[in-house]
Amino acid sequence: MSNLKSDVVVIGAGPVGLFAVFQCGMLKMRCAVVDMLDAAGGQCMALYPEKPIYDIPAYPRITASDLVESLTQQAAPFAPTYHLGVTVTQLIPGADGGIEVSLSNGNKIDARAVVIAAGGGALQPNRPPLEGIECYEGRHVIYKVTQANALKGRRVVVAGGGDSAVDWANALAGVADKVMLVHRRAKFRATPASVDALMQAAAEGRVELVTPYQLHALQGDGKELKAVTVVNEKGETRDLEADTLLALFGLSTQLGPIAEWGLQLHEQQIVVRPATCETSLPGIYAVGDIAAYPGKLKLILTGFADAAMAAHAMFPRVHPGQVLHFEHSTNVGVPPVDRQAV
Ligand code: FAD
Repeated sequence: MSNLKSDVVVIGAGPVGLFAVFQCGMLKMRCAVVDMLDAAGGQCMALYPEKPIYDIPAYPRITASDLVESLTQQAAPFAPTYHLGVTVTQLIPGADGGIEVSLSNGNKIDARAVVIAAGGGALQPNRPPLEGIECYEGRHVIYKVTQANALKGRRVVVAGGGDSAVDWANALAGVADKVMLVHRRAKFRATPASVDALMQAAAEGRVELVTPYQLHALQGDGKELKAVTVVNEKGETRDLEADTLLALFGLSTQLGPIAEWGLQLHEQQIVVRPATCETSLPGIYAVGDIAAYPGKLKLILTGFADAAMAAHAMFPRVHPGQVLHFEHSTNVGVPPVDRQAV
């Protein structure tokens, strides 16, 4: 457990949080970035990494993952400290005007200002409603894979019909001992090239397509998974012998701990002053999808503008007594990081 310090804590490493790091950096404010996910990118990386986006200014077309990569590079000169796989659990305003930010790993960060760029809140996997599933979660029932090799030698049931399910069934074919893809329809909602690769893998016996079936039950002793029972529309069941269920039914958002921080909320968003993005609590700003103000559009580009306004508004808190002269980036360039982050 450590007590850390940072000028600014950015909650959320989605596209808007990453751009907030850049905007703060341009004004010589160092950032610590906290995200409960294991990787930066927010919705872009978690929900649609390979989809092209067409409404980012100056990019006629850019995939979500390339956008996140560019934003990460743009923020890099300001040496942000990333705390990934960690949830912000609490914000406590201090008597000195600072804010104590508590993290789920027990660490605390003292900051002069906080930027909440938490999108829709916590992105959590949709769990299939199977009795006793919680007993197997972690080792036998999983909702994501970071490396196919982690499932080497296992008998894996992949469940789902979208891009993630199809892509992971393809990636695991030839790595896992056995791959069975369960979907309630015979048709998959994935990019045609991925579906073609899946059909090829099925034809070669590297993936077994279990369609049209749905998950029905888990068989095991509550510790070790033995089989996954699936059922079709006629009520016919099959037991698929497996030691791993990879359930890929998308992610949903929940405001999570943010709802407990005493901020003024409106329909699962944080109410802010449009000109500054400051919330109802001094020194705490909200930008991007989570910010609510009249006419708010939940778009990446409006989030970028939010981040610029919040950074300028918080400058006097972080650098008291210094006058902020508005300057274009063409004049100042990218200023060097001249202070040590703790
Ligand atoms: P997010 O991207 O949601 O990131 C928020 C981050 O905060 C998440 O990583 C989350 O884990 C983290 N977080 C939340 N709570 C906590 C906590 N307590 N502690 C730690 N971390 C926390 N927008 C466009 O402009 N153009 C498009 O074409 C477009 N297409 C889209 C297509 C799809 C399929 C979807 C789902 C969205 C699309 N969007 C598009 C919307 C766009 O993705 C969002 O507007 C954008 O991601 C919002 O960015 P953000 O940084 O505000 O939040």
